Amino acid sequence: MAEGVASAYHFDGAGDASEEEDEAHCRGPQCSSFPDEFCFFCAYERDPNAEHGTASDLYGSLQSLVETMSSQSREFPAITAAVHSAYRVQIQHLISDPVFGTAPAWSRKSIIRHLTYSNQFKGVFRAGVTQIFHSLVDAHNRNMKDRATGQIIESERVALMSTLATYMKWEAFSKQLSK
Ligand SMILES: [Zn+2]
Repeated sequence: MAEGVASAYHFDGAGDASEEEDEAHCRGPQCSSFPDEFCFFCAYERDPNAEHGTASDLYGSLQSLVETMSSQSREFPAITAAVHSAYRVQIQHLISDPVFGTAPAWSRKSIIRHLTYSNQFKGVFRAGVTQIFHSLVDAHNRNMKDRATGQIIESERVALMSTLATYMKWEAFSKQLSK
């Protein structure tokens, strides 16, 4: 690994940091790189006895909550908030985890991490990417005109057209996937 750079994604989950102090900057973004933080979805997947019974029902209901909200095109923060609240109110007190103990808290940060990087909810991630396009179009638009002269700023116009062209490809690709 060249000096001063790090992998975007760590396939071993641990990151490639050799120095302790570098770890925070070099570890991967996925749940497995944060073993000190509880993630209900990951904890359930690790438990070999969880195939039947309460944990399975709770896991399934939370999973369908995410899938339903995603299919309704709800925004990422709304999905995170709903999962956080449903876990806290209906599930937390029923959980006993071998590592994190009784009724472990599941932070928003950890929920966001799982929704973004686990690949379990691809629709949620795609919706997040679509929101980035919307934000980019808005940002280009805000910077489009020179206040003093009223002229269009050519570099911004070119950037907007390029974003729109890529956005159209993205929309076509997403439509294809959700067929
Ligand atoms: Zn996770």
